[in-house]
Amino acid sequence: MNRPLVAILSGAGISTDSGIPDYRGPDGLWRKDPEAEKLVTYEYYMSDPQIRRRAWLMRRESGALRAEPNAAHRAVAELERSGVPVRVITQNVDGLHQLAGMPARKVLELHGTARTVECTRCHARTPMDDALSRVDAGEDDPACLTCGGILKPATVMFGEHLDPVVLGEAAAITKACQVFIAVGSSLQVQPAAGLAGVAADHGARLIIVNAEPTPYDEIADEVVREPIGTALPELLGQLSKTHLQAPW
Ligand code: ZN
Repeated sequence: MNRPLVAILSGAGISTDSGIPDYRGPDGLWRKDPEAEKLVTYEYYMSDPQIRRRAWLMRRESGALRAEPNAAHRAVAELERSGVPVRVITQNVDGLHQLAGMPARKVLELHGTARTVECTRCHARTPMDDALSRVDAGEDDPACLTCGGILKPATVMFGEHLDPVVLGEAAAITKACQVFIAVGSSLQVQPAAGLAGVAADHGARLIIVNAEPTPYDEIADEVVREPIGTALPELLGQLSKTHLQAPW
């Protein structure tokens, strides 16, 4: 018997209750502030040490690594623990799904993770916490301890390509799932947005949970406008019950 599969595409809206603002979306902070956008644009970051120093200070000040998962992240992890096969595809780089208890192998991070830094020369990966400790200790642009290369967060900066392996896995999950829930995403940033259409094309039940209208509302089977922190736990609770009562 084919196991039912729930795919959850999460965007910035799932993490706002955790105190993380929307940086990257079409109306995100970075897009509205060209100077801030330079800090996360690969070309500027690599060519200008001053940009890197400001970027390290921004990371240190932002406190994003201290954010805690909220009720919506926990509800996703609980659904997985209840025995429903769940995969998360996220546009977020905050790692909060995993902190809430989702196994890392079941979370696809389309834009990478801000919890890890990567050397742009030798590609060694180390915890962001370690790099920030070096900034705290007085290094204004900590270099790779292995090769001396420039360090950057393991996120996909503007001007960088998404990982084709991650994208391929996201597409495969989207085509295979029976329920596709887009939560907290404006569905305006590709390729994440297109996944909602792919899911519907392949016969999945498409559910959109977002405060604002999205371009995919018209083809969705269900659109939920309630606050994510209460709406998602309720929705996933129902899914879990349905799963236990009847074979899908
Ligand atoms: Zn290196």
